[in-house]
Amino acid sequence: MGVSTLSLLFDAHIHLTDNEYSSYIEQVIANLRAMKIVACSVTVDTQTVLRSFSLFNSQRDIVKQFVGIHPEAAAREELDKFKEIFRSNLQSIDGVGEIGLDGTYEVPYDRQKQVFGEMLALAESANKPVSIHSRKALDDILEILPSFKINGVLLHWFAGSKKQLARSMDMGIYVSYGPALVYSEDKQAILKNTDKGRFLVETDGPVRYSRCFENLSAVSSGFLVSVVASAARTLDMSFEETAELLQKNSEAYLAGA
Ligand SMILES: [Zn+2]
Repeated sequence: MGVSTLSLLFDAHIHLTDNEYSSYIEQVIANLRAMKIVACSVTVDTQTVLRSFSLFNSQRDIVKQFVGIHPEAAAREELDKFKEIFRSNLQSIDGVGEIGLDGTYEVPYDRQKQVFGEMLALAESANKPVSIHSRKALDDILEILPSFKINGVLLHWFAGSKKQLARSMDMGIYVSYGPALVYSEDKQAILKNTDKGRFLVETDGPVRYSRCFENLSAVSSGFLVSVVASAARTLDMSFEETAELLQKNSEAYLAGA
């Protein structure tokens, strides 16, 4: 037939259950479909997990559901209730996230570590990939991860040093880059040092980026193509080659490879 197939694009980390999107979530989904974008939709607490199931259980082809307790919510969430919901909805769950540690939050660090450990244990037991928040806590996270057997580990919004990147690559971890790639030479330099088979792209919507896209709330359909184009330019590859590579990486990550 000679019909060429465009690669699917993957937004490796976005908060589609955020209130920011609630008044136009149907439009957001329609746009993902129109642009052939698969979204890894992360949650932050029990409430957003339940919202995710009700919004997206029927959209699993383009919305991959990640469930987790974010470090910011670690103090207030009930672990037992969360685990019960996790176990009774396993068939709807594609991954565990957003989970992690954050050295800048007031939430007690010991409690963050306890919740993070429980989330990693759930991912290990259910054999699901994880999406990790690691702001000012990357060394601790790299220390904790080897205690768990998890396939498909993503350090989302990777902001580590070259040394931490090298260590992550040695551990077979995926890292993702977002809209900062469009303007930040530091990010472009770190991408150049990343194994080609280990990077993904994301928007972290609804985060707003003051230095690009007019400070609008991020949506995959509006921002992701620019991020892929920046990655392509940085790596001296064509857009289509980059999209193909990212599709392969994203599918491997989701499959827990
Ligand atoms: Zn996030």
